[in-house]
Amino acid sequence: MDYECYISELAYSKGLKHAKENAELKLESMGLLIGQVNTYNGKNYLMVQDYITAENQSTAVSVKFSREALSNLTEKFSNRQDKNLFVVGWMHSHPSYGCFLSSTDIATQTACFNQPNNIAVVIDPVLKESNPQDHIRVFRLNENDSRRYSEVSFAIIKKN
Ligand SMILES: [Zn+2]
Repeated sequence: MDYECYISELAYSKGLKHAKENAELKLESMGLLIGQVNTYNGKNYLMVQDYITAENQSTAVSVKFSREALSNLTEKFSNRQDKNLFVVGWMHSHPSYGCFLSSTDIATQTACFNQPNNIAVVIDPVLKESNPQDHIRVFRLNENDSRRYSEVSFAIIKKN
């Protein structure tokens, strides 16, 4: 395994579609990433299987779930059959302003996704048109300093 994280084509395309739809309205998008931690040759890697979302309350530069939407989402997830899957992080969009974590994003990550395997995926559906190599990045908080974050190496698994 060459990467720390693998994202299924399904999760990627659902997240990108949501980001594109919201970008047309000049809004950010956000959803949860469902997956698991696997081991290969004694090395852990993260496998992101799916992207699930609910109604977003978003503006051009911020996004969050409504309280109701979050409980719907939790319900949607707990109804799934595969109990080995859990919420491994979140994906949100930065339409046209590039992939990084803002101070608000770091606060969200610290509050909600602070486990060692938790990630934050940022996708820029506008940048994808001009710079497809750089429209999606994966981050996690540094273990010893949660105000800082690092990039996680990743690959999107293309279906054959
Ligand atoms: Zn952000």
